[in-house]
Amino acid sequence: MKTRFAPSPTGYIHIGNVRSAIYPYLLAKQTNDKFVLRIEDTDQARFVEGATELIEDTLKWLGLEWDEGPIIGGPNAPYFQSERREIYLRWAKKLIDTGRAYADPTSSETIQKYREECNANKIPYLYRNFRPENPPKWELGMSLRFKSDPKPRSWHDEVMGDMHAGPEVQDDIILIKADGLPTYNFAHIVDDAEMGIDCVCRGVEYLSSVPNYLAIYEALSLEVPRLVSLPHILGPTGGKKLGKRDGARSVDEYRKSGILAEAMLNYLACLGWNDGTEDEIYTKTELIQKFSLDRIQTSGARFDETKLLWQNGQWIRKIVNEQGIDALYERTLGFWPDAAKAYDDAYRKKVLSIIYDRLKTLADLKEMTNYFFDDPKIDLEMITKNKFLKKFSEEEISELLQQTATELQNIEWNEETLQAKLNQLLEKFEKKPAELFSLIRIAISYAPFSPALPLTLEVLGKNTAIARIHDTVTAIEND
Ligand code: GLU
Repeated sequence: MKTRFAPSPTGYIHIGNVRSAIYPYLLAKQTNDKFVLRIEDTDQARFVEGATELIEDTLKWLGLEWDEGPIIGGPNAPYFQSERREIYLRWAKKLIDTGRAYADPTSSETIQKYREECNANKIPYLYRNFRPENPPKWELGMSLRFKSDPKPRSWHDEVMGDMHAGPEVQDDIILIKADGLPTYNFAHIVDDAEMGIDCVCRGVEYLSSVPNYLAIYEALSLEVPRLVSLPHILGPTGGKKLGKRDGARSVDEYRKSGILAEAMLNYLACLGWNDGTEDEIYTKTELIQKFSLDRIQTSGARFDETKLLWQNGQWIRKIVNEQGIDALYERTLGFWPDAAKAYDDAYRKKVLSIIYDRLKTLADLKEMTNYFFDDPKIDLEMITKNKFLKKFSEEEISELLQQTATELQNIEWNEETLQAKLNQLLEKFEKKPAELFSLIRIAISYAPFSPALPLTLEVLGKNTAIARIHDTVTAIEND
């Protein structure tokens, strides 16, 4: 199946927009066919500078490479609708020549009057009821309308099933606007035909316009492609279509907040589709193998950010387990705390290898790893208010820390010896792990969480770890 993603460059790449790219991509790849990217930029009022680049970037990031489209070109170039005017005019001419399109001389004020008239009479407004009897010859600068042929129409939608519509929903829609650019309604039909698209996946909001499209396909003797209406993505509470207010961010914002491309792709593909099993983690290759139109759900899919974060965590671990720490490290650049700049890759990788399994997003690196790169701010309350430590006096705490520092001074510095030494100290000081280990952990990190203590100590290095323990002793003494 040759498919396409046909976004409008309006700036913000919503979660739903991208899902409309994933399914056609999967279908094309599954059938060893082509996936086309076409930029639908005929609505100049909504055009946003830089939006096309954002679309291209997002698709590349997600691994949805197009086979024809901007940058790489292809046999049906150009792939920007604004550069295809001649093509639309050529197709419009076919309709004019067969008497199926006519110039619309009506001013917008008159159209407004027609609408009000219909409203007052409680009848639906249809332009065709006011179709001029002798329209002028069409020329650029005038709107061009389709001369509809209202009749019962039936078609099959791959998701919604068998559909039927009566004549009352078919009208003389505008094909070419007064600015010379085509409407979406006309342009997409021409482009899909010219580009050989045989499967059209798009949001369900276009479903009600299909009867009008069928009439145009018929008038142009075009085969109707397979039609796939993708259900809405609903807000977290269900019911309403997902909007910015639901806290759902643009794909780019998720990317910047440390969601992995693999997780985003996985999550969005499963938003309204499943393979009939309980599986939730899929690679792109698995999605290509398993995706099927008949398992797209017909009702809206609920957006659930918690699930996205969960899947991201799963993917972080999956990448390390299957491809090693270097593969995850490559994706973390730009997410480290500023202080990490002074350290080399090898050290940052070590830090990553001991904390990655606690990350929900890559952005967590900033807060979770700062103490590996910069001495933490000493906050004695973290000790004096700690539930395991508050029973000890400052002298006892200070004494425990000093002795620990001395004991650690002369050992070989690796995880094993550190583990053995720490266990020995528990016996020697007659303390519980929660007591002694919490104390050391706080003194070296002042962070709410840290990886296993011997690992944290090993990565920090002997000098830094011992110096930090001494710093806390000094702070207690000066307190
Ligand atoms: N340009 C339309 C949009 O962004 C695309 C609809 C379609 O895929 O045909 O909503």
